[in-house]
Amino acid sequence: MTIALITGANKGIGFEIARQLGTGGATVLLGSRDAARGKAAAATLPDIDVHVVQVDVTSGASIAAAAAWIDATHGRLDVLVNNAGIAVDREYRPSTVPLDTLRATYETNVFGVVAVTNGMLPLLRRSPAGRIVNLSSALASLTMSSQPEPPWGRDLLHLAYMSSKTALNAVTLQYAAELRDTPILVNAADPGYCATDLNDWQGFQSAADGARIAVELATLPAGGPSGTFRSATGPVPW
Ligand code: NAP
Repeated sequence: MTIALITGANKGIGFEIARQLGTGGATVLLGSRDAARGKAAAATLPDIDVHVVQVDVTSGASIAAAAAWIDATHGRLDVLVNNAGIAVDREYRPSTVPLDTLRATYETNVFGVVAVTNGMLPLLRRSPAGRIVNLSSALASLTMSSQPEPPWGRDLLHLAYMSSKTALNAVTLQYAAELRDTPILVNAADPGYCATDLNDWQGFQSAADGARIAVELATLPAGGPSGTFRSATGPVPW
């Protein structure tokens, strides 16, 4: 039985990743920073084996408590999906971005991923086939950003969010390198532009569509790729 923890799984793409992994037979540890929101979400998944794990990725104490509970209850972790993320800047230009916005964004999207990954790594090392999936974004791609006409329009300025996801891609490669000689595969997923609270429901795909690539990377077979950045349509340029 695969044990899978998904952070920020009380709604949006994370909830759909939880639902799809659970439907595929995994025991789902539905991460939610707010226990009540997590319980409400879990209650809508009556047909899967789901347990709410309170985890705020910016709180070392909550990460440690979550890891201790998983250790005591399951003794290992097979899949970690670092899904929790925020986009609190709205088209802020680099010249005007409040530093607090930048710090808050990195705290969740970058440092939170490192903190949760390091908290869960001892449990993932006990899995015969550990998988780590980081929810990135096409907006992280320096290759695409530096095109004269990037696919999302040349005027999109989103310093905090975009650079945090670029940093997350670098973090993904660092873990893939360190864990190269272990069974743990570490990859970044681009879910595509999905209608969720994160973007005021502007996305043109569903959260369920966006979840699929993360689920694919979370269930890679042994010997599968590590250190890649992928969307549903294939590799995304770094
Ligand atoms: P969403 O609907 O806003 O959900 C975000 C989730 O993250 C919520 O469960 C939220 O919890 C949680 N979260 C935020 N801060 C947290 C913290 N400190 N600790 C724990 N959980 C926290 O967003 P989404 O669109 O599903 O996004 C999920 C991931 O996909 C994010 O990493 C995002 O950057 C990425 N992504 C999304 C899109 C898109 O088009 N939607 C595109 C590319 C990448 P609360 O409910 O408590 O706030």
